[in-house]
Amino acid sequence: MKAEILAVGTELLMGQTVNTNAAEIARMLAEIGVGVYYQTIVGDNPQRLEEAARTAVGRADLVIASGGLGPTEDDLTRETFAHVLGAPLEQHEGWAQRLRELFARRGRPFTGNNLRQAMVPSGAVLLENDNGTAPGIYLQRPDVVVVLVPGPPHEMRALMREKVLPRLARELAGSRQAAVLISKVLRVVGVGEAKAAELLEPLLSEQENPTIAPLAKTAEVHFRITARAFDADEAHRLIAETARQIRDRLGDAVYGEDDTTLEKAVGELLVHRGLTVATAESCTGGLVSHRLTNVPGSSAYFTGGMLTYSDALKVSALAVDPALIAQYGAVSEQVAEAMATGVRKATGSDIGISLTGIAGPGGGTAEKPVGLTFIGVADQSGVLCRRFQFWGGREQIKVRASQAALELLRRRLLGDRNG
Ligand code: ATP
Repeated sequence: MKAEILAVGTELLMGQTVNTNAAEIARMLAEIGVGVYYQTIVGDNPQRLEEAARTAVGRADLVIASGGLGPTEDDLTRETFAHVLGAPLEQHEGWAQRLRELFARRGRPFTGNNLRQAMVPSGAVLLENDNGTAPGIYLQRPDVVVVLVPGPPHEMRALMREKVLPRLARELAGSRQAAVLISKVLRVVGVGEAKAAELLEPLLSEQENPTIAPLAKTAEVHFRITARAFDADEAHRLIAETARQIRDRLGDAVYGEDDTTLEKAVGELLVHRGLTVATAESCTGGLVSHRLTNVPGSSAYFTGGMLTYSDALKVSALAVDPALIAQYGAVSEQVAEAMATGVRKATGSDIGISLTGIAGPGGGTAEKPVGLTFIGVADQSGVLCRRFQFWGGREQIKVRASQAALELLRRRLLGDRNG
């Protein structure tokens, strides 16, 4: 079943209201296995709304239109769909009565305009709205199902959940199209999007069910696997098989699934290995510590961090030899190593991790350009340092540097475990 979501409202076109209804409706439809092929936004303009409604009805099996069901002249959705579908509006006596009673209870005058909300295209079912005055409308035709829901998100949500989805699910079950759509995300670090996609060929180009969608994030790539099946067990089986094939090709670059962050994956490894870590940060301003401590329970393995921005503090807090700074500069392999060793010793941690770099936008030279960062890791087996050249604005460089530090730590922990 191909669905189209049509969001009606000039405020959506102008960006004054974000079209959250379409995203929410798409997610709800996925739960019952209905794929959304188009999302359209159209303003409160009679010609353009009619054109959009005709197009949607012509190309989709299910059209869900949100908004424009209010009582005023510029609320046109009901009238337009009635016209496009050739289903004249008829007054729904039950809803008209309910509106009259509601207005009487509130002591508000009831005008002819209010009755517009009790008009239903002939042959359609009225879906009672317990949260507002505009009911939903469900019109089943042999070639298309049209559903109209009010714009306010809480009204749309309740109607979709309580009235529309159960009806659609029954419909699908009857037509043997019953299906679920389930997704899983694999999170990849240390391999760029293009390289990862190349490694995944021919899986990516031959995908049908499940589908595999790459999503590039800052310093990591996600692959969303989506399976369509008759039931959840079957969908999970299909996903597990595709996930296994992806893991076979990308190996340890897959660090986690769904909402597992890199800092969470690192935390799990530290717990597993029974090790503690401390940070010595400069250019990242404490971001690595912040990310590590975003994980509940991180006190089990994070001893603390030192934010040593100035040269003087690197010397006094981390016992970095001032001669190293004088000879090589604060942004250097030698200083990164000394910082990692220093923080490990000062905090009595198993692992010390350090960062020193140039976040920009100023301060770069030909020899040491903006984005140059050294990351050191010290543990019982010694100290190592990696040199990185990051790009982007100041904040992006900080995020990329923190990501690289966490990834270096993860690699170190994996190596220890394997080795
Ligand atoms: P009402 O009976 O309240 O007039 P309606 O069906 O005519 O309902 P609209 O007037 O189009 O709905 O929208 C009412 C409010 O609902 C908007 O001001 C906006 O805040 C919100 N809204 C409408 N459409 C959307 C959407 N697609 N996504 C998120 N919010 C929306």
